[in-house]
Amino acid sequence: MTPRRPLGILGGTFDPIHYGHLRMAEEARDALALERVSLIPAGLPPHRERPGTQAADRLEMTRLAAAAHPHLEVDAGEALAAAPSYTVPTLERLRDTHGTARPLVLLLGMDAFQNLAGWHRWRELFALAHIAVATRPGYDFRAAGLAPELGAELRTRFTPEAGALAASPAGRVTAFAMTPLAISATAIREQIARGASPRFLLPDAVLDYIQTHHLYTY
Ligand code: ATP
Repeated sequence: MTPRRPLGILGGTFDPIHYGHLRMAEEARDALALERVSLIPAGLPPHRERPGTQAADRLEMTRLAAAAHPHLEVDAGEALAAAPSYTVPTLERLRDTHGTARPLVLLLGMDAFQNLAGWHRWRELFALAHIAVATRPGYDFRAAGLAPELGAELRTRFTPEAGALAASPAGRVTAFAMTPLAISATAIREQIARGASPRFLLPDAVLDYIQTHHLYTY
């Protein structure tokens, strides 16, 4: 049997989802030969303030963004859960679904990776998935000021070979260069709140949903 290609996992608040997230998924799929990327909107994100937007709206916007893209799927598991969204339990759930042999690759932006050592049960992540960090082209993310314990994990786990991720189910860390897109959900929310247009920073279907449901107008 041919081993299945790795599954990418991109979690986020997605408040709202935008082209920074979607390009990250697309470029990761290409760079890391992922079969597809699962987008997982957080329900109650533990690392930040509670989003002003209901999980159901963020889930629906994520579904609209992923619709008609066969390489993207939406996992509603965190958005519909009553408990806070921690990544380790989510990965444990995905392991139950996909089995112990399937390579899983957690996709993170550089900002998220730098904070990893503050995550709940973060060291257990490595037994459950690989980690791939989106970086600016030419940027060596190992040079970033990382917490010493995270730097130590990186030294033993880093591989520059994207192909290495397919050879084991979990435990390696790699980086992939992505087109720099300085798009943030915070900036989009601010634009909408002051009546400016965020069009072309996010899919039209997502913007239509925001307008129909009067999101971010505060
Ligand atoms: P906010 O502005 O509300 O903090 P955000 O736009 O940073 O939101 P999140 O939902 O917090 O979006 O991010 C989810 C993941 O996507 C994180 O790993 C983050 O690093 C990554 N990400 C967000 N924006 C970009 C971008 N423009 N380019 C690449 N990765 C991004």
